Amino acid sequence: MADPIEKIIARARQKQRLYLLEHECKAILKSIGVPTTNCLVAKSEEEAVRASEAIGYPVVLKILSPEVIHKSDAGGVMGVIGQSPLLGEEEVRRAYRELMARFKGRNIIGVTVQELAKPGLEVIVGAMRDATFGPVLMFGLGGVFVEVLKDVAFRIIPVTERDAQEMMEEIRGYELLKGYRGRSADIASLKDILLKVSDLVTAYPAIKEVDLNPIFAYPEGSIVVDARMILEQAPPREMAAVPKTDLSAVFEPRSVAVVGASNNPDKAGFNILENLLRLGYKGKVYPVNLRAKEVQGLKAYPAVEEIPHQVDTAIIAIPARGVVDVMRGCARKGVKAVIIISGGFSEESEEGRRLEEEVVTIARQAGIRIVGPNTTGVFNTQNNFTSSFVSLDRVASGNVAFVAQTGLFLGVLFEHILSSQHFGISKVAGLGNKADVDDADILEYLAKDAQTKVIAMYIEGLSDGRRFLEVAGRTTKEKPIIVFKAGTTEAGAEAALSHTASLAGRSEVFEAACKQAGILRVRSFEEMLDVVKAFSFLPLPRGNRVAVIHYTGAGCVIAADACQREGLELAKLSPATVEAIGRITPAWHRIRNPIDLWPAIEQVWVEAYDVAIEAALHDEGVDALVVSIFAMPRWETYTPDLDMLRASGKPVLFCVEGNEELVREAAAKIEGEGFPVYPQVNRAIFALSHLERYARLRECLAQGSCA
Ligand code: ADP
Ligand code: MG
Repeated sequence: MADPIEKIIARARQKQRLYLLEHECKAILKSIGVPTTNCLVAKSEEEAVRASEAIGYPVVLKILSPEVIHKSDAGGVMGVIGQSPLLGEEEVRRAYRELMARFKGRNIIGVTVQELAKPGLEVIVGAMRDATFGPVLMFGLGGVFVEVLKDVAFRIIPVTERDAQEMMEEIRGYELLKGYRGRSADIASLKDILLKVSDLVTAYPAIKEVDLNPIFAYPEGSIVVDARMILEQAPPREMAAVPKTDLSAVFEPRSVAVVGASNNPDKAGFNILENLLRLGYKGKVYPVNLRAKEVQGLKAYPAVEEIPHQVDTAIIAIPARGVVDVMRGCARKGVKAVIIISGGFSEESEEGRRLEEEVVTIARQAGIRIVGPNTTGVFNTQNNFTSSFVSLDRVASGNVAFVAQTGLFLGVLFEHILSSQHFGISKVAGLGNKADVDDADILEYLAKDAQTKVIAMYIEGLSDGRRFLEVAGRTTKEKPIIVFKAGTTEAGAEAALSHTASLAGRSEVFEAACKQAGILRVRSFEEMLDVVKAFSFLPLPRGNRVAVIHYTGAGCVIAADACQREGLELAKLSPATVEAIGRITPAWHRIRNPIDLWPAIEQVWVEAYDVAIEAALHDEGVDALVVSIFAMPRWETYTPDLDMLRASGKPVLFCVEGNEELVREAAAKIEGEGFPVYPQVNRAIFALSHLERYARLRECLAQGSCA
């Protein structure tokens, strides 16, 4: 074992130690080219003096013990300004004796003697392993910034140079790093440390946590002053890769067996079959029922194997204990995918978990893909194939795909979407327990699905975060992914030895993963639908300059606030635009963006909108347009010239306010023509900001300079 790092790890393991001592960590850091304070081990007073002479006074003495993890808290650091006077030889002797007395009776190796680093900006770099995403890197300012303000940023390892740069820029304290009252930090040297720690943790899976706290950052260079590393309990085991076949049988089966198909309307198997028949699924349907000869007018079979035709996919809706047998039958029949609706598996009991494992084993051997169990399964509007047991009406086909782990999107929420939205749907998937098919598999499928333009996902947890991240990163180059993650308030890691692990909560790590993969995050279904709608209907803007037309001054102010909050710029209107609108506006009214249209409306009524919209869309300095109109009884509601909007090639978003019924009518008309409508101007701007963010991201991905 020539590798010095492996040697240090092996020696610690031999001594049953999961915690690498400071000098060991610093040796590791030195070997990967990260600068640290010189550090020698001394096991007696004499050795301490000799080490101090070798290093050069003044020095710092720190207690060296596998038992003392937080040294200064325990009174184990001497010689640092503010804690005790600078140490010369006499002081070194005294400090050594004092440390020995202080830690008497504990398992003490001795002390480390270190050079005293000159004060700099204190920074922390750390790494930990997240259960879902694997190794994660952290950066923050040290001292109170990390302890009290928790001003830290995370990225999933490995990180790119761009990630490293972004994580520094992300913390609130970045301004301090850039320079404040003559003190600044060498950003390049910090970036170098981040990248090296990322590499270290990637190359050595045995290292579970890293805390470099503090690092002193100077105008030129940075130096690690204290380091701590925690090892994995056992050397990590490799996860066996599961062979992944494609999911076409899940969404595009040519023939389907409905196991548990029923004539009894109270049974799930009734609605599943009825949905397929009523919606006009374009494939063969074979009911499977132990007793009935005929179900809903179709010939029924007692088992999947008895069906004398090819069966691509089976939908299984019978009690859990019967599913294993059905799976064996499916395997013999050569079925390619099963959708298990039934509950009573791992989500419910230990026995259920065993059943689920058995089902998966059979499927893996036979090369069958499983969706579920415990879900409503899928909907494909292209062939009207669905496994949902919720009675569904015809669904408008379109370009939005919804994915959730619950059956949510094929139940009540779906009804809400269908009854309130005017965009169409491509695919829906409820993944249930994700015994086999998971979020990453679905993403991989949807990325290639020509019908899908936008992917909306509701996520509670991920089974394999790294694969998800990898697939999502590839997918966002082609189409946007909008994620609503719930369950983010959960406290972070349990009792952790390192600072990094205690700060890396699930939500921070998930947030970091989304940034790296280019995923857009929303915080509610409302936001999700607002954003999805914009992507479904509109082209991407070429830039971030927005014009807003509103019928009130207050609306203009609210819009300006929203633009600033969401990172959009208010376009500077060209003289031609100002002049065109000026022609229909009283002379006293100053035209600027957001455009307060009321004075013009008073003069020329709906013509005001036509003129302003046309002028704004022709303005070279305008990349996107937000138009707020009103719907009032006794007034004619403005109807935009939608052909003109389309011809501009720029995204145009509407806001309609006023009488509820009239608003709904106007919204249906405008959305029916392919332009999104929002109830408030700030929501339109929020949605637009996501288009803009994604456009920027895609451009940067296309240039190959990010991800
Ligand atoms: P711990 O984190 O285990 O309490 P540290 O080694 O980080 O102990 O020491 C506590 C503080 O003392 C550090 O945050 C740093 O400000 C200061 N310090 C430690 N070592 C040095 C050193 N070699 N030079 C200058 N200051 C130091
Ligand atoms: Mg420390």
